[in-house]
Amino acid sequence: PDPSSRSQALHTRAKHTLPGGNTRTTVYLSPYPVYAAHGAGCRVHDVDGNELIDCINNFTALVHGHAHPALAAAAHRQIDLGTAFGMPTESEIALAELLAERVPGIEHIRFTNSGTEAVMMALKAARAYTGRPKIAKVEGAYHGSYDHAETSLDASPANWGDASAPASVAHSQGTPQGVTADVVVLPFNDCQATEALLRAHGANLAGVLIDLLPNRVGLIPASAEYLRMLRRVTTELGILLIVDEVITLRLGPGGAQSRLGVTPDLTTVGKIMGGGFPVGGVAGRADVMAVFDPSAGRPAVPHGGTFSANPVSMVSGLAAMQLLDEAAYAQLDRHGDMLRRGLNQAFADAGIAGQATGLGSLVKLHLKAETLTSYRDAYPNPEQARAMARFNREMLNRGVLMASYGLIALSTPMRDQDIAQIIETAHDALNVLRREEVL
Ligand code: PMP
Repeated sequence: PDPSSRSQALHTRAKHTLPGGNTRTTVYLSPYPVYAAHGAGCRVHDVDGNELIDCINNFTALVHGHAHPALAAAAHRQIDLGTAFGMPTESEIALAELLAERVPGIEHIRFTNSGTEAVMMALKAARAYTGRPKIAKVEGAYHGSYDHAETSLDASPANWGDASAPASVAHSQGTPQGVTADVVVLPFNDCQATEALLRAHGANLAGVLIDLLPNRVGLIPASAEYLRMLRRVTTELGILLIVDEVITLRLGPGGAQSRLGVTPDLTTVGKIMGGGFPVGGVAGRADVMAVFDPSAGRPAVPHGGTFSANPVSMVSGLAAMQLLDEAAYAQLDRHGDMLRRGLNQAFADAGIAGQATGLGSLVKLHLKAETLTSYRDAYPNPEQARAMARFNREMLNRGVLMASYGLIALSTPMRDQDIAQIIETAHDALNVLRREEVL
């Protein structure tokens, strides 16, 4: 704590009107968070005048960093024309066309204001389409705050249950029992156990919800074998396969589904496709998406949203997606590989057990060296979690902003020297951990 810190003063003020001074759990930091003032490119300035290299990019959403001129121009133009109407606008068609053209699983799409809403609508669509009540999701995977989607997130190891049939544990206190009863939790990358669970619950399962590179599961990819099994068994049992690309749309023009070679029935998207503004989307096969179609009377799943498809998000999002050409993706991939290599070398040099996982522009640090394939492998023990929080603070104090639990998301304005700076800073931070025997 530093009495001259403006961030600290803001946090003290915030405590009078925001619970714990916070309105977004993800950005909470003890004893107080660093408040942002402004950003440009891959740099952000805090209210105390410190410059940080931004490696979290609003939790992966800002693939072009801050205040990109093309995105700002698109938003400014729209703001002058009006920001939201009780009418559709052409902007929603243009973004829908781009996504349908690029992503294999997207024929039709409906826009929402967040990834949480997108996942919620995908699960409701799956239930309406199949007439079945249950949802299956991967143990520990994050999909936003809808009751069913957050089940089993962050459960303490004492509540995990059997590894081959993980427990359905509510995330928020007060969650009705009916919710956990309607969620089947799948062990990630365990083909045999997952197939057995799908077959046991098949007649009641509307959909399988999966992020192909799940951040909270360790940012390790679903294996090709696991994906082949999921596609085969869901098709056979009439279960919809729902791929959550809210984060992974940044892995390539066709998202992770294209990169890892599986075509789902429904896809949820968000984050980067809002060009820095709130957005989400539920998308998929036209016959499934027809549950939302109001043209023949009340649809099976009514869906509104005062700000859904608002033209500011749509035009900025379109500009962001258009900038993501082959060269942009190639650079993000190259920088991601360079960073993972450099960070792994930094662990080796410091003599600290650790590794960097991820794909493309998504990178995650772990303070354990063994090969990670499942949620339970990747889950940090309390000592590793404490050490990661300390590592994060050492990075922050040296001008590198990442998620406190080790997630990094790169942006297109980054240059080779920025990646080198992140690696150099990690060297210094790891040396502190080693010197102070934090691990
Ligand atoms: N799905 C995944 C995979 C996510 O990572 C997130 C958010 N980080 C969400 C859904 C929810 O998106 P939002 O925060 O826009 O509600």
